[in-house]
Amino acid sequence: MTERSSEEQLLEFLYACPVGLLECDMAGEIGMMNPHAMQHLLPLAGPRDAGNLFSALEQHAPELRSIAAAFAPATGRVCDGHRIFVELGCARRTTPRKVLACTMVKLAPDRLMVTLTDISQQVVQEQRLRQADTWFATLLNGINDYAALTVRPDGEVITGDSGFTRQTGYDLAAVIGQKLGDVLKTDTTGGDLRLDEQLVVAERDGWHLQEGWQQRANGERYWCQRLVVARSRDDETGPIGFSVILRDVPRREAAAEDLRRVLTRDHLTGAANRRHFSHAMEREQTRWRDLRHSLSLIMLDLDHFKAINDTYGHPVGDIMLRRVAEACAPLLPPRGVFARLGGEEFAALLPRYDGEQAIGLAEDLRAAIAAIEVETAGTILTLTASFGCATLDEADGSIDALIALADKRLYAAKRGGRNQVFQPQAAAA
Ligand code: GH3
Ligand code: MG
Ligand code: MG
Repeated sequence: MTERSSEEQLLEFLYACPVGLLECDMAGEIGMMNPHAMQHLLPLAGPRDAGNLFSALEQHAPELRSIAAAFAPATGRVCDGHRIFVELGCARRTTPRKVLACTMVKLAPDRLMVTLTDISQQVVQEQRLRQADTWFATLLNGINDYAALTVRPDGEVITGDSGFTRQTGYDLAAVIGQKLGDVLKTDTTGGDLRLDEQLVVAERDGWHLQEGWQQRANGERYWCQRLVVARSRDDETGPIGFSVILRDVPRREAAAEDLRRVLTRDHLTGAANRRHFSHAMEREQTRWRDLRHSLSLIMLDLDHFKAINDTYGHPVGDIMLRRVAEACAPLLPPRGVFARLGGEEFAALLPRYDGEQAIGLAEDLRAAIAAIEVETAGTILTLTASFGCATLDEADGSIDALIALADKRLYAAKRGGRNQVFQPQAAAA
């Protein structure tokens, strides 16, 4: 029997190992990688430094760098199966996207062990299952009506069937030549995509399905399942347009949706609860990736709130918390989510808002809170709050980094004297 050194055995293992395995320092400088890791990384690195994990993945997963940097413990699991969506060259829908799962384990203060696994097939399967689920559910529950239309790449209606008029109440002849997105009123308050946004995703993925409230011509709303499928030429020069199928599905889903909304509220203030807020953040992070819209977060914490409780009692504190939610929620844009994260801490998630717009809104929220007056025991109580804003761009796409940044700025506003919105420019000047 030939004795092999443990080093030889290790090398053999690294070569045969069916997942990408590499070791690097906290700055991403790669010390060792196996052939599988090389296969994954080299095509992604392009002109960038393939010897550095974070540089190699800069274009596809810029958040990895900050995820690693934000992990403070000396050792432990930094991320587990973090999904990296890779767009290789032209992102035609005929070439399915590649998805890598990345797991980083910190072995020592400056040593990371990283695995990269290709999970593209699994992700495609997941998507198909989700789609099949929705469609089967509809089949089982019955459909009231469906309508089919074809639209140009810019969303202009080319043809439609009589189901369209039956379902929506709009005259088909009058709609032809118009942008379908201008005709259909979609309720986007729950974060649903507008039709033009659905076209963007459908062009990339081949199709997009969404359910939500939609309005008929007479203003009545109904629960609509909307499927958009890209129609392509064989020569792949781009979509020649889209087919849109609208299905009027019965109230069971609608009732479930209403129940879901009840379950997503904070019982004291009626603002969104923490769990719903994290779901909304994940959903908007995906949108941010898909549509490249900006996304902002405002965090706020009431000032010296303990003193109000201590002086006037907890029930008065509760009234003030309710008043804060009542004053702030109406100031948010239609797709914004206002949530109570806990205690006397609130947050606003603002899709499509850039940093400047977020600061502007935070300033309005600050003024609205400062204007609240609660009468108790013959005195008029007022309160103030401190604010920190951040954008997902600044946080390189990482939700954790976004929260950490807004929180850091919120505390800078506290240190700056409270009742204020932290201003990054002023701080940098
Ligand atoms: P700062 O300006 O530094 O934020 O001071 P603060 O007093 O607001 O901060 P601290 O975090 O020390 O106090 C938060 C207080 O919020 C503690 C608790 O009495 C109060 N609080 C948390 N949840 C509730 C609630 O549901 N109802 C009421 N009435 N008070 C709450
Ligand atoms: Mg607090
Ligand atoms: Mg406080």
